[in-house]
Amino acid sequence: MPLDSSAMLRRETRPSVCPHDCPSTCALEVEVLDGSRIGAVRGAEDNGYTAGVICAKVARYAERIHHPDRLTQPLLRTGPKGSGQFREIGWDEALDRIAGAFADATARHGAESVWPYYFAGTMGLVQRDGINRLRHVMRYSRQLNTICSIIADVGWVAGVGCILGPDPREMAEADLIVIWGTNPVNTQVNVMTHVTRAKKARGAKVYVVDPYRTGTAAAGDVHLALRPGTDGALACAVMHIAFRDGYADRDYMRQYADCPEALEAHLASRGPEWAAAITGLSAEEIEEFARAYCTTPRSFIRVGYGFTRSRNGATNLHAVTCLPTVLGHWRHKGGGAHWNSRAIYHWDKTLIDGLDAVDPAVRVLDMSRIGAVLTGEREALKGGAGVYATLIQSTNPVVVAPDSLKVRQGFLREDLFVAVHEQFMTETAKMADIVLPATMFLEHDDVYQGGGHTFIQIGAKLIEAPGACRSNHEVVVGLAHRLGARHPGFEMTAMEMIDATLRASGWPGAEEVLARRWVDAVPSFEDTHFLSGFGHPDKKFHFSADWSRLGPDHARMPKLPDHFAIIDSVTPEHPFRLVAAPARQFLNTSFTETPTARRREGRPTALIHPEDAARLGIVEGGRVRLGNARGAVTVHARLFDGLQPGVVVVESIWPNADFAEQVGINALISDDPAPPVGGAVFHDTAVWMEAATEPTELPVGDAVAVAAE
Ligand code: SF4
Repeated sequence: MPLDSSAMLRRETRPSVCPHDCPSTCALEVEVLDGSRIGAVRGAEDNGYTAGVICAKVARYAERIHHPDRLTQPLLRTGPKGSGQFREIGWDEALDRIAGAFADATARHGAESVWPYYFAGTMGLVQRDGINRLRHVMRYSRQLNTICSIIADVGWVAGVGCILGPDPREMAEADLIVIWGTNPVNTQVNVMTHVTRAKKARGAKVYVVDPYRTGTAAAGDVHLALRPGTDGALACAVMHIAFRDGYADRDYMRQYADCPEALEAHLASRGPEWAAAITGLSAEEIEEFARAYCTTPRSFIRVGYGFTRSRNGATNLHAVTCLPTVLGHWRHKGGGAHWNSRAIYHWDKTLIDGLDAVDPAVRVLDMSRIGAVLTGEREALKGGAGVYATLIQSTNPVVVAPDSLKVRQGFLREDLFVAVHEQFMTETAKMADIVLPATMFLEHDDVYQGGGHTFIQIGAKLIEAPGACRSNHEVVVGLAHRLGARHPGFEMTAMEMIDATLRASGWPGAEEVLARRWVDAVPSFEDTHFLSGFGHPDKKFHFSADWSRLGPDHARMPKLPDHFAIIDSVTPEHPFRLVAAPARQFLNTSFTETPTARRREGRPTALIHPEDAARLGIVEGGRVRLGNARGAVTVHARLFDGLQPGVVVVESIWPNADFAEQVGINALISDDPAPPVGGAVFHDTAVWMEAATEPTELPVGDAVAVAAE
């Protein structure tokens, strides 16, 4: 084991997995110093997808995991809600109080008045999802996971029939790549590795479809800067041209698709001029893109999470998946489209999620509507009891969830008990009655799947956590024992759960996966390219989407691909379309606590077209206010010509406290559920905009006082 000559530190390199909410799920090489601290973090060279590359955020993970502001002790609120006044308590007292509050709410209002709430602060299956086991065994309210992927999931499934597609490494073997609705330079950098390989080896041409000139768009060859929420119109026009100009592969469609004749007739009126009026692109841009796409069999479309942020995202994504079907591109190596690899893992999550304890009669509450739920909106509560107690793990809804002023109002309720299990004193943790200190990924065991690739990996505990931090699994087990909840999963360690889940799912056990480092779960070329048919029972790709199978709010959705005009369209009162896009240095609200990420991001900033700025008297670096019926937000302006006039972009998610008046960008975002099944619409917001003439109050800081015992 090498010694560092200057500091005489024992250095060893250990394998791990990035747990963050990113499709890349990178295979990591982590330097462990003296068995207790971490040094450099690198991407595993020999993993076929990671290929030695990780993002800068995680490369400097030592800054986050050894941050002096880590929570290390359980805390009890001593001041008013949200005041940030706490005193330290022991774990037994903390867990006793939480269990007592859950039991009290159950006795007074029924078990559904307890709503455990979680999300993707870690993507490890055991630590992220184990809270569901407690929920199901105790009959607490269930959670509909609508922040993030659900809108795109249903859009993909509507046509393809299952969440599967060609191996993303095949991007390197494409002659044309369309990066559509995603900015991998900011959010999944490994996509760019394989794109670069295709450019170098094959001279591949890269088109980027995105409402603004992202880092990805700047690295591509052609940027199609369409208006937000108009992707379906662009896809329809490309298909129109394919039929019009004889590129459509009728033999392929006859064998593999449900209703090509109906599609062709439907698209006859949806040509480039029609799409130009909707998208704001020129008809010439659309014709050029269509010609390139239609004449390149090895065309790979990488679709991304931009689709999941719009009211019409499901229909938009369905329209895009129709493209490789009309052209028959699916059948070529380096051709087709990829959204997510989820179907390949065939997990049996009975142990982790407690699926054998699910009571279908228990109500399901929409996580995107947490503001409406906590403020007692009857429809959001499904007509049932209010929520009186919650445990929050792995998410920061006071900043992340839509309609954030309403969310904050809900958390301020005096009759709501809140426990938050967190790594830092987030704005949600500040609202808590009990704060529990949480481990980070290198301090606990977990198993991971890659949405953006095909690998199963285990991240084993490498170092001890600071202070008294405990893992999500340990907290769930501790509460289960106090509440009398019985399930085999409450009697197992995290590694035992990993091992049992792997085996139950048909994969090698934990020991073997650790020894092999990863399992490549990639199915055959025949399966990922749908050579034997698509995922529907009839084996056809469905141009005619049966939305009724995918969610209750389906009646108004177009069956055939179209522009579904239900977005928050501009009006004279709200003449701008706002996109709240992900910042490069943050990942949701993770990393907003690290000084380097904050310094590199600068400050909350609106990207504004110079023509709009000139008209409104907005100057570079000046303050600007954006608003709608839900609230108003003050940011600084950056003049930027990489978007259409009438479009504004604010990259985030900055904490609310970093905005003037401490009102963050998600105050403007609606909690309208997207059809057919729900989903948060972060990129689908009409706003007014004005120069902020009056100096606006600066943030007052985020002081937290912890009294000595
Ligand atoms: S690119 Fe994504 S998966 Fe890879 S290290 Fe960064 S955040 Fe983690």
